[in-house]
Amino acid sequence: MTERLPIAIIGAGPVGLAAAAHLHEYGLPFVVVEAGPRVGHNVLSWGHVQLFSPWSETIDSAAARLLESTGWRAPNPTSYPTGRALVERYLAPLAAHPAIQPALRLSRRVVAVTRAGLDKMKNAGRERAPFVLHLTGPDGSEETLAARAVIDASGTWATPNPLGASGVPALGERALASNIFYGIPDVLGAHRGRYAGRRVLVAGSGHSAFNAVLDLAKLAEEAPGTTITWVVRRGTMGQAYGGGARDALPARGELGRRVEELVARGAIQLVTGWHTDRLERAPDGIRVFAGERSLAPVDEIIVATGLRPDLSMLSELRLGLDPAVEAPVALAPLIDPNVHSCGTVRPHGVDELTHPEPDFYIVGMKSYGRAPTFLLLTGYEQVRSVAAALAGDWEAARRVELVLPETGVCSGPVAAGGIEVSCCGPQAAAPARASALIDLTPVGQVALLDAAQASCCAPVVQESCCAPEAKDDCCGTAAGEPAGASCGCL
Ligand SMILES: Cc1cc2nc3c(=O)[nH]c(=O)nc-3n(C[C@H](O)[C@H](O)[C@H](O)COP(=O)(O)OP(=O)(O)OC[C@H]3O[C@@H](n4cnc5c(N)ncnc54)[C@H](O)[C@@H]3O)c2cc1C
Repeated sequence: MTERLPIAIIGAGPVGLAAAAHLHEYGLPFVVVEAGPRVGHNVLSWGHVQLFSPWSETIDSAAARLLESTGWRAPNPTSYPTGRALVERYLAPLAAHPAIQPALRLSRRVVAVTRAGLDKMKNAGRERAPFVLHLTGPDGSEETLAARAVIDASGTWATPNPLGASGVPALGERALASNIFYGIPDVLGAHRGRYAGRRVLVAGSGHSAFNAVLDLAKLAEEAPGTTITWVVRRGTMGQAYGGGARDALPARGELGRRVEELVARGAIQLVTGWHTDRLERAPDGIRVFAGERSLAPVDEIIVATGLRPDLSMLSELRLGLDPAVEAPVALAPLIDPNVHSCGTVRPHGVDELTHPEPDFYIVGMKSYGRAPTFLLLTGYEQVRSVAAALAGDWEAARRVELVLPETGVCSGPVAAGGIEVSCCGPQAAAPARASALIDLTPVGQVALLDAAQASCCAPVVQESCCAPEAKDDCCGTAAGEPAGASCGCL
């Protein structure tokens, strides 16, 4: 009975729809359940943002084969889509294909996934029991869907990290929700009125934050009075601007380069080493605090501090997730930003994505848990491998050939306190721009710098970073010196 049930795909984003295309090629029945009223629901909420991947790296191979059979013409492979174009020119035609459209359930949110008649504790008959998905509709209606396997491609976009630096909302963050935007607002379009002429704080150091500050800087050129304060937890930007010209994705490298230039010429007030713990509404605006320190008041806050997976609907399944990254245990060490940020992930597919719960897979953006480096190409390769495994084609499932474009940076571990550690120890924290700060404790800044320098080349750092095999690429060698001599870690 279970064998004849469809495979349930949660989410009709780029990776969920690619999974559908691969399952179709294997002749396996499937259902795609999508919470939003349209496919690409999450992508549309950042539809104004241009991707840094060209079209050639945003289209799945099985999806392309399916689309080409209808006379669809792929967009220019070297041009760059916006999120909206990705949906309109690729995902929407794919979802309308007769092989996929009948299997699509829009406006249905999966709120729970379980094994029929078994809670998480029960062993007996578990592997043979079908999965049961609980769905809700916009009108509150409830229904269930039985499935032989589940592919969770529900992304992480709807569960952003808070502004609070400790992973929970800062005191006052919830009360000030109407002045806080989580994600990337359409600063130059639909949300222009909200930010023009206002004092705006942006938090976060990834590409989403880059997009927000770049748009705000453009707005500031046109709308007098617009000011931008940018806070990051890390003690120094170091390699956070990315690999620039060394990035294998030129548009991604360019984002960081342009932001760095804006900071250098003072268009943005960058505050490093900032750990927000409290917000307050004051007569002159919103005050943002980190301990005893406070920033100059602002009118609006944009939080782009990363995303996290929503695991609540999976609470009755047996997951094997890394406790820190919240990615499958075998995948987590490959993508953990505490360990590296090279952007190169060794080939991975069904083996790394397997959980203790048989026939259940988390793929796409959600498979990376809290790690920020996910690329569509990764997701497409994942679902190709998972679909092959579900079809019993283990040779294809394990023939994973994933070559990701490198970021051009390979940073070392990040020390507690956000100080970026090179092989030789932490780089000194750049002093925060005083003009963005009031009540800045000079003593605190000095202490931060001292701590950074004192631990430079300390034995503990040498042990963790300067392992013999890492010396050459980590430390580099000056001409004529033995490996590692340049950073004193022989
Ligand atoms: C601004 C931005 C720019 C990016 N640029 C690039 C780029 O240039 N190149 C690149 O390779 N990657 C890029 N990425 C990263 C990544 O490729 C995208 O986030 C991509 O959308 C991930 O695809 P996905 O299918 O895994 O998840 P999503 O696109 O997030 O899709 C998940 C889908 O699941 C649905 N859903 C969620 N919960 C449920 C539920 N409970 N029940 C039913 N449905 C549900 C959502 O509505 C959504 O439609 C970018 C990401 C962002 C945020």
